[in-house]
Amino acid sequence: MKDVSEGKEPGYWDLALRIHDLSEIGSREFESSRILMKVLGDNGFRVAGNFMNIPTAFKAEKVIGNGSPSVAFLAEYDALPGIGHACGHNLIASSAVYSAIRATEKIENGTVSVFGTPDEEGSGEWSGSKIIMAEKGAFKNVDLVLGSHPGDRWSVGDPSLADLDYEVTFKGKAAHEAANPDSGRSALDAAVLTYTAVNMLRQHVRRDVNFVMHGIIKEGGKASNVTPERAVLTYGIRTSDIEYHKDVVRRFKKIVEGCANATETTYSIKEIGMMYSTTKVNVPLSNKVREKLVERGIECPPLEETLSKIPEGSTDFANVTQVVPALELQFKIAPEGTPWHSRESLEAARSAEAKRVLSEVIDVLSDTAEEFTRNSAFREAVKNDFHFPQSVL
Ligand SMILES: [Zn+2]
Repeated sequence: MKDVSEGKEPGYWDLALRIHDLSEIGSREFESSRILMKVLGDNGFRVAGNFMNIPTAFKAEKVIGNGSPSVAFLAEYDALPGIGHACGHNLIASSAVYSAIRATEKIENGTVSVFGTPDEEGSGEWSGSKIIMAEKGAFKNVDLVLGSHPGDRWSVGDPSLADLDYEVTFKGKAAHEAANPDSGRSALDAAVLTYTAVNMLRQHVRRDVNFVMHGIIKEGGKASNVTPERAVLTYGIRTSDIEYHKDVVRRFKKIVEGCANATETTYSIKEIGMMYSTTKVNVPLSNKVREKLVERGIECPPLEETLSKIPEGSTDFANVTQVVPALELQFKIAPEGTPWHSRESLEAARSAEAKRVLSEVIDVLSDTAEEFTRNSAFREAVKNDFHFPQSVL
């Protein structure tokens, strides 16, 4: 394995630190993606930038022996605006690149690729790039996808919530609030009614699908003596059931329409970004990765335990799990309970602990890729579970 640094740090750690230093935000990760492509190119991968016409995306590929099966690693390298790599995506980048390089050294037959997937945090126009890739068939010829994400604990097979955000704009009619109140029609009234009606909706939803609906009034007028002619709300709607999500959205739209009627205002509803899917958990794959962690003395809860927890977040990695067997390994670089997207996690993403753990992650993911290419029983089990998911609870 070729190191990128002339310095004393091993290549994987030098790369993680360089991406951390760059701290480029989503859809603007030009230098970070260039560096990752360079490392892969130097290690014999065929590299193509501007993948699927996404400026900071890339695909790198190396064929070994007969080229089958095909295993892909997903890299993220976007930082958070204002704070930097407080989500530790610099480690995801290095983990993907060096797991792939290491895998090519272990595998006899197979294709190993790395997909550079920009803007996981949703900062720019290529927000949720994995969704675009999954929908446009980027993983059509891939048999297995592996990813990783740092945090305050180890786990495999984490479920996630489907999520789609909306922006609602009401338009009313401005008037002097003391002289001509009868001429005014308040967009803010429509927004407040909507906010209240959504609170009422919350009581009458299914309890088993982890329904969450979070909203704000973003704009509600400029001066108290002018009837607000424009008000804007944004809402995030999340559930662990994609079909039920559609039903709640239908009811939400009825609320907005009703509140506009009641206040004689007009409205428009816009989707923000793309729909984050739920995660399709692959049982044999999750168990295999956990087995490799446990062999190394790493404490990782059994899949049943992880699945019994309430899913907390949403990720574009979930959309990948819907089109190809995939797993995102959660690895621990900070004490349990450490807040994420914080100064603490920013430091943790370049700590001595992260360096030690990242090396283990690279070993485990490249071993999993190698076993997938060699062990046909494991490969078949993963494939079967993708098409006919086992019940795990
Ligand atoms: Zn993240």
